[in-house]
Amino acid sequence: MPQIKLLEKKVVEQIAAGEVIERPSSIVKELLENSIDSGADKITVFFDNGGISRIKVVDNGCGIEKDQLLLAITPHATSKITNAEDLYSVSTMGFRGEALASAASASKFTLSSSSTLDGAGYKISSYGGQAGIVEPIAHVKGTTVECLDLFFNLPARKKFLKSEKSEKLSVLSVIEHVFAAFPTIHFVCIADGKKLYDVCAVDNHRQRISQVAGTDFARDLIYCRNENSEMSAEIYICPPKNAKQKPKYQNLYVNLRKIDNNSVSAAVRESFSRFVSAYGNKPSWFCFLDIEPSKIDVNVHPTKQMIKFDDEKALFSFIFRTIFRELERYQGNAINPAAKTAHTQDYLQHSQQNFAVEEKKENKYELFTNPKFSESPENPSQISISFLDMVSARREDGKPLGTGINDNVWENIACFQIHNRYIAVSVTDGLLLIDQHAAHERVLYEKILDSMETEIESQSLLFPITMELKPFEKEILLSVNEFFSKSGFDIKDFGGNTVAIYSKPADFLYESQIKEAIEDIIEQFLKENNAHVLSSVHRHFAASYACGAAIKFGNALKNEEMTSLLTALFSTKNPHICPHGRPTFSKLSLNEIAKRFLR
Ligand code: ADP
Ligand code: MG
Repeated sequence: MPQIKLLEKKVVEQIAAGEVIERPSSIVKELLENSIDSGADKITVFFDNGGISRIKVVDNGCGIEKDQLLLAITPHATSKITNAEDLYSVSTMGFRGEALASAASASKFTLSSSSTLDGAGYKISSYGGQAGIVEPIAHVKGTTVECLDLFFNLPARKKFLKSEKSEKLSVLSVIEHVFAAFPTIHFVCIADGKKLYDVCAVDNHRQRISQVAGTDFARDLIYCRNENSEMSAEIYICPPKNAKQKPKYQNLYVNLRKIDNNSVSAAVRESFSRFVSAYGNKPSWFCFLDIEPSKIDVNVHPTKQMIKFDDEKALFSFIFRTIFRELERYQGNAINPAAKTAHTQDYLQHSQQNFAVEEKKENKYELFTNPKFSESPENPSQISISFLDMVSARREDGKPLGTGINDNVWENIACFQIHNRYIAVSVTDGLLLIDQHAAHERVLYEKILDSMETEIESQSLLFPITMELKPFEKEILLSVNEFFSKSGFDIKDFGGNTVAIYSKPADFLYESQIKEAIEDIIEQFLKENNAHVLSSVHRHFAASYACGAAIKFGNALKNEEMTSLLTALFSTKNPHICPHGRPTFSKLSLNEIAKRFLR
């Protein structure tokens, strides 16, 4: 049975200082880590109201003895390290001896535990840090920690908590991160009385990823493995065809601890970018790195979110090569192997000096991008139109394009697409650059807002599409299903974590893009920023919908598509900004252009 001891002052002074408990998710993370360190193979997390009103974690680990309970909630008391040298060989998740003490001082707290199989246990309570006495209770072997009313005694800190929804998302994100790393532990999560996860023990990471992120997603992941004398890596990365502008998972675990590290992310991104055609599409990935504890320093960040590696450059090339090698095999040696190897060497040398290689990629990309106008049989002639006139005249009379020029004006203007992201249009007094995604967002946003009164036309799908979601995503989707149906979708619960889509909005969205659009809409819905712009539920939905369903960066547009987008944008009530407040276009005046040429 591990003995909890108070750390000596000089050891405490060497531990990275800082707040351990910032919000409910930090408590959940610490409690899960404690349960994992206790050797439990079943852990249940309950939380209510985003964890603000209640967090409870129950495990079947080794338990805590009666005479150790008070020590467990005392600051700087731990069973995991004794002296400063131990900090360099930590193999447990925890080591600071602060989590329970911090949680106890910030809530109405109870620690109950039994270290024996006879059902006899003990508990200790603490009211905002005021510890009570140890009392006997019945408890199966293992430990239960409960925190009620977080920050009830610290109103200044409570003020910094976000909304319940944000806190809930943050807890779920922590939970997912932890669940993914420990496939052999059975985890259950119950939020506000609803069972969101019940992931039984499985044999390997892929099966666990499948439980957390969905079976289709997990099945497609490419497995890469590599090792050298100092570390070994197991990486699961999505195939290039599934890369996205905003991938969902970019999870790095070092010795099963979820951490952030720029070298690893850069290595994955750069290696992968050799295999994707659409610029900016990035992979989802899970990387499990196993490193000798003495080669890293886990004691650099209070919540252990970052760690220090002895040699980041070596780490970069290790990850880069691991992925490159496997993706090369996966792609079936499509490119000349000799040229490719030379390229990798060259690249590694370059990137070890500097990870910022964006510029190089831009140049390479430009060589392959044909300006759209050269593809169209007849170049539309440029007509004289002053963009400023157009917009300002609109503002005065409130009508779209109120210059006397007809609404089809954009059809006669030369425009072309840049990098499948922006549309460039020549106007009388300069050059107009339009952000295709933001512009389309604005158009859809207003359309959906209008349709909140009159329903949007819907089109039945020949074959319903089924879609596997995360439990929380499904909950969100069904809770706003009324809005989905108003915007032309027919979505029904299909049992388990699945929904079925029977129809889609008639006049936009290709069938192949439905799933991604719905995922994006949900994701947008989960983000709560820009509350001032999205003041009501309707607006919130419309903005989420618009962002999810709008043309993406990377989508090639035909000439007609560009002109109809421009027409639609400049017929909206407010063409200047997207629903999230970003500009939809920017203008470079002839004067500014002239200045650049010193005219
Ligand atoms: P740390 O994990 O850094 O040691 P904590 O404050 O999280 O510090 O926990 C203090 C001590 O209480 C731990 O070292 C451990 O011995 C004991 N402990 C905490 N949670 C559990 C648990 N779920 N099961 C068994 N022992 C626990
Ligand atoms: Mg701990």
